Amino acid sequence: MAATTIGVLALQGAFTAHSTSFREVGLKVREIRRVADLEGLGGLMIPGGESTTLLNLMGDEPWFEALRRFHDEGGVVAGTCAGAILLSREVRPRQPSLALLDAIIERNAYGRQVDSFEAAVEAPALGGPVDGVFIRAPRFHALWPEVEVVGRLRGEPVLVRQGRVIAATFHPELTEGLAFHRYVGELTRKTKGARPAPRRPAKRPPQPTP
Ligand code: GLN
Repeated sequence: MAATTIGVLALQGAFTAHSTSFREVGLKVREIRRVADLEGLGGLMIPGGESTTLLNLMGDEPWFEALRRFHDEGGVVAGTCAGAILLSREVRPRQPSLALLDAIIERNAYGRQVDSFEAAVEAPALGGPVDGVFIRAPRFHALWPEVEVVGRLRGEPVLVRQGRVIAATFHPELTEGLAFHRYVGELTRKTKGARPAPRRPAKRPPQPTP
């Protein structure tokens, strides 16, 4: 069987390191610059960078429609940092987003004094702590009950999953460890060819994060 191919959105930001990490865990990688490049992928990574810049660049083609369709048709969509912002249902301060993840997320939420830091994220489901670099990172303000918390930093959710959507508020690709990429890769392999489940709007209210 041909290896599963994962796409890495390569419009802006930290995409090269993601490509390297996915190759190291045995996936085929395609860097995605056009909507048409999504054809045939099992999953897609939206990297960190600057979400406002990414949104501007995404104005050139119907990216929102294409990415929502990609997800609805069974694709895995993962995002790190700015990617997590793009995936969330509501962004503070307000800006457009894909709304594939039932979360409220706040941009640049650690304050200017702590522009960036490195920390170990508790992620038992990934086999133990995962090193992450937090760069002008966002914070989940609230999560709907459908969202599973996979990783925490000092009790706070920083890595979450909802069905075929995975979001991390940090940059796992800038550290040595490959547990995060293995996790995204395994979900992509498992999901490939699976019948897509229809997305239902969340009914229960969001839960504030600690
Ligand atoms: N602060 C950035 C934003 O709001 C995200 C930072 C990052 O991706 N490292 O988009």
